[in-house]
Amino acid sequence: MCGIVGYIGNRNAFPILIKGLKRLEYRGYESAGVAIYSKEINTDKEAGKVADLERVAEGQDQGGTLGIGHTRWANHGEPNYKNSHPHYSENKRIVLIHNGIIENYASIKAEMIKRGYVFNSDTDTEALVHLIDEIQKNEKCELDEAVRLALNEVTGAYAIAVFSKDNPDRLIGARKGSPLVVGIGDKEFFLASDASPIIEYTKNVIYLDDEEMAIMDRDGNITVKTIQNVVKTPYIQELELKLEAIEKGGYEHFMLKEIHEQPKSIFDSVRGRLDAIKGIVRLGGMSEYENRILKADRIIIIACGTSWHAGLVAEYLFEDLARVLVEVEYALEFRYRNPVLSEKDVVIAISQSGETADTLAAMELAKSKGCLVLGVCNVVGSSIPRMSHAGCYTHAGPEIGVASTKAFTAQVSVLTLMALWMAHKKGTISDGRFREIATELENIPSKIQKTLEHCDAQVKYISEILKDSNNFLYLGRGYNFPVALEGALKLKEISYIHAEGYPAAEMKHGPIALIDAEMPVVVIANNQSAYEKIISNIQEVIARKGRVLAIVSEDDVIIEGMAEFTIKVPQTEECLSPLLSTIPLQLLSYYIATMRGCNVDQPRNLAKSVTVE
Ligand code: GLU
Repeated sequence: MCGIVGYIGNRNAFPILIKGLKRLEYRGYESAGVAIYSKEINTDKEAGKVADLERVAEGQDQGGTLGIGHTRWANHGEPNYKNSHPHYSENKRIVLIHNGIIENYASIKAEMIKRGYVFNSDTDTEALVHLIDEIQKNEKCELDEAVRLALNEVTGAYAIAVFSKDNPDRLIGARKGSPLVVGIGDKEFFLASDASPIIEYTKNVIYLDDEEMAIMDRDGNITVKTIQNVVKTPYIQELELKLEAIEKGGYEHFMLKEIHEQPKSIFDSVRGRLDAIKGIVRLGGMSEYENRILKADRIIIIACGTSWHAGLVAEYLFEDLARVLVEVEYALEFRYRNPVLSEKDVVIAISQSGETADTLAAMELAKSKGCLVLGVCNVVGSSIPRMSHAGCYTHAGPEIGVASTKAFTAQVSVLTLMALWMAHKKGTISDGRFREIATELENIPSKIQKTLEHCDAQVKYISEILKDSNNFLYLGRGYNFPVALEGALKLKEISYIHAEGYPAAEMKHGPIALIDAEMPVVVIANNQSAYEKIISNIQEVIARKGRVLAIVSEDDVIIEGMAEFTIKVPQTEECLSPLLSTIPLQLLSYYIATMRGCNVDQPRNLAKSVTVE
């Protein structure tokens, strides 16, 4: 995944790069490195976090005003010193950082070795820097032309930043598949994987498109062109992001801050789109395609990870409310399976970052088969919304903790709006029912606030008791089955405890064999339907001495009398119950992970925005 930053201008580049890398660390944190030009190119790199790099680089800052920096999530080569970016060409002439995968690196590498190049790392990236060097020498051209020609030779995904000591007045960036933003200051330019490293210096940015490159110099000139050599007039956008949104704001971790932001993030995602009294849902982006959406034979939801769980909740919502057939697909399984698709299918792609490579690839396939593709994303201007025909942003604000929390509930809220919109237009629910659900959706932010206030201390107490368990089982039915999956995923991701989510009724077909006195079983039981059935499931666990933690509605007394622990959430419409039941599960994983001493914001082996296949 990796985060990349670059700077050219009159300021000292080093602090800009380090601060930028810290903001991008959610994208990868296995090694970090910077290269800065000051008479020659100087590099500092280190396996580990940006703070480790900062330590080794202490006192090395020589005040250069051109530089690039990288924080790595390794995919080719171990996350050690030699594989850390930046990578050099021969004689340290050209230096480059890369986010993505050069898929044909092996053949390029073999050819370069034949031509006498020596490789110092196991990365795919190094093949590209040598290729650029070789082309520049053969063609006797400027670096940007060599970069352009080299990029025509590579397959795969890249966002790169590159410069050469032969022309230290020029910085070059290019992208395909991986994101890259250019910040435009006063005779200075910034490059970054997202806008967060840029925001405090300028609000004017250009989001590069696939196969575009930017050539920037110290006089404030920028040229944007495609790798096919077509010069473009760049579209300069004003950033809406606020600096406070990417800081911890007094919380110990981003994850905790983001859990507590959910009343606001859901409010912001629904605001202006829903009027329960008038009985209206306004989804501007989708109205242009209204006919096609309402006549769809099928909705196919493609996503990965937590977004896939939001997609599963949406399956219940769309089928229940809008009476349309829904399939929920893991993006890459879908893509590589030769799925049957037609122009009558509507595809919804869900991704927090809007850069998930697997989802982008699946969207491309769906588009090529004539499907209408809608995006549900959190990052404005990211690749998925740009590739979609239409869609709906979630307005959760930047999510920095690697384990998704507020993005999930914002996705579920927006998907609820989409299902309500469709149901209302199709007439599959009555006006009265529409108003009931819409009114309750408007009440959800305050109910989440209440949940957070009421259950925090209790979840902390339960976490203390259960934190040393090695396995957890999560069970849910109907709308709350995806919540069971999401609860288990959260715990796995940040506490490294093995956890599995199952439909509660499925337990007897296998997982019941795991249950013993050591096994906490989290049962999500705030549904009204199948309430007796879930009681039976709880009894089955208790009969085998399993320890039950049940999430129930505030008026529940029956389960409270059976389970070892119960956490109460406010009552709500069944179709909205995941928005409440998921909150204590997020807190449970957070507290267990922190009590076990885990780094919840940067769990091992993970990165937030998965921009490689
Ligand atoms: N492929 C490069 C490496 O492994 C970049 C990694 C990435 O962007 O995820 O070093």
